[in-house]
Amino acid sequence: MRRISHWIGGKPWSAEAARHGKVFDPATGEVTAEVDFAGSAEVDAAVAAAGTAFALWRQASLSARAKVLFAFRELVAANRERLARVVTAEEGKTLSDADGEIARGLEVIEFACGIPQLLQGSFSANVSTDIDAYTFRQPLGVVAGITPFNFPAMVPMWMHPMAIACGNAFILKPSEKDPGASNVVAELWQQAGLPDGVFNVVHGDREAVDLVLQHPGIAAVSFVGSTPVARHVHTSATHAGKRVQALGGAKNHMVVMPGADMALAADAACNAAYGSAGERCMAISVAVAVGKVADSLVESVHERATKIRVGPGTAPGVDMGPLVTGEHRDRVAGLVGKGQADGAELVLDGRGVSVADHPGGFWFGPTVIDRVKPEMSAYREEIFGPVLSVIRSDSYGDAVALANRNPYGNGAAIFTNDGGVARRFEQDIQVGMVGINVPVPVPMAHYSFGGWKDSLFGETHIYGPDGIRFYTRGKVVTRRWAEPADAGVDLSFPTHR
Ligand code: NAD
Repeated sequence: MRRISHWIGGKPWSAEAARHGKVFDPATGEVTAEVDFAGSAEVDAAVAAAGTAFALWRQASLSARAKVLFAFRELVAANRERLARVVTAEEGKTLSDADGEIARGLEVIEFACGIPQLLQGSFSANVSTDIDAYTFRQPLGVVAGITPFNFPAMVPMWMHPMAIACGNAFILKPSEKDPGASNVVAELWQQAGLPDGVFNVVHGDREAVDLVLQHPGIAAVSFVGSTPVARHVHTSATHAGKRVQALGGAKNHMVVMPGADMALAADAACNAAYGSAGERCMAISVAVAVGKVADSLVESVHERATKIRVGPGTAPGVDMGPLVTGEHRDRVAGLVGKGQADGAELVLDGRGVSVADHPGGFWFGPTVIDRVKPEMSAYREEIFGPVLSVIRSDSYGDAVALANRNPYGNGAAIFTNDGGVARRFEQDIQVGMVGINVPVPVPMAHYSFGGWKDSLFGETHIYGPDGIRFYTRGKVVTRRWAEPADAGVDLSFPTHR
């Protein structure tokens, strides 16, 4: 059995692990590897290696850091297909989708290549007589990232290129469901010339996470995952005195207004609900059809969804791969069944979909549930599968009020041809990322990504300018080299002259 172990101080960790996890190929249901689970010895070793490396890396010149980042960018680009294949083999998404994930990760690395400019401070000459003031930002120390299964390469890349560019040392605790990509990335960092110990990987489950959250040698934690775990991470790590950003789950609404281009809206609803088998935090899971558009929207989505080809992510012509585990597939099926039992109308049922020659795969076909009500669990819970719920709403006001009552606030989209309504929506809707005729409004790398309400705990969004703020702290220097005109002892509070 292939073994995936930790990467600490620039090499694989060789000691035998007390606990392991199984890594599946979701398209066959077979176990393809065993991943070591970290305990305190491994987490301590990673923090020690990172702490030693930080002492030197924080002093590396900005141009030296930029050189490593540029080299890393080239290596990730050159290994794009290799990384995508690892993602597909363990997560299940199609190769083209996995390739898109690497492409979006690359954009963050490219942004981080601009670190010499991104870390520019400000300077004011003569703020008081013969006194200048200036600011700069410094790294935090050893920082950790804890990431989910659904973007095993991209979500860590939201964190480590930014943290490392800022001069920190980084410990990644990726999802135990698809750990392989992180070790490839570790090798690429090393090949790019990053000093050993600046990037480390510890694998594991909640035990490893809790050790990271409590470790006194870790200054900050970035987390991306489900809302209950995000809340736990935020509470425990802030109690332990760390800076924390914890991005949680989502229930993204797409409001379709009368007069919207129905073909565009139906294409968008399908792409956003069924891409990556719905396992995206920016997936559209609720279409809110306003007024008379509901019937034609449901019909158009149904027509498109029945043509989606489900199969192994590596097979040509396949649109949608399997879900990540059998357990998750069963949970999604349970929520669809519950919706039906609660009175919603199952327009397209993806339960029981099978794929030739792959009897053990974790398959689930595109699903449409119409006439969903806000009190149903199919609406209240994050399903995280290829399930589009349709809610019928009488007016724009009702649609926005519904979305705003939802505890999640990651993204939301409106489909309309009315600029005035679109403008009202961007002002009214209580989410962090808004799409206008764009279903999955993931910000580019030079903006920042993050939700509101139960979709993010902490003050900063992730990557982009907020990433720089999160991974550094500011300093203001007030300096004088000239002999003061009024030299002498004066105990009054300094004022400006
Ligand atoms: P998850 O919360 O189960 O796991 C995320 C990480 O936390 C993993 O590394 C896991 O090992 C660890 N973990 C799991 N349970 C834990 C516990 N009880 N205590 C401590 N650590 C624990 O999430 P997932 O199933 O891997 O990913 C899917 C979720 O992530 C969805 O809710 C999705 O919306 C969310 N997500 C959010 C974003 C975002 O940007 N907001 C992006 C991607 C995914």
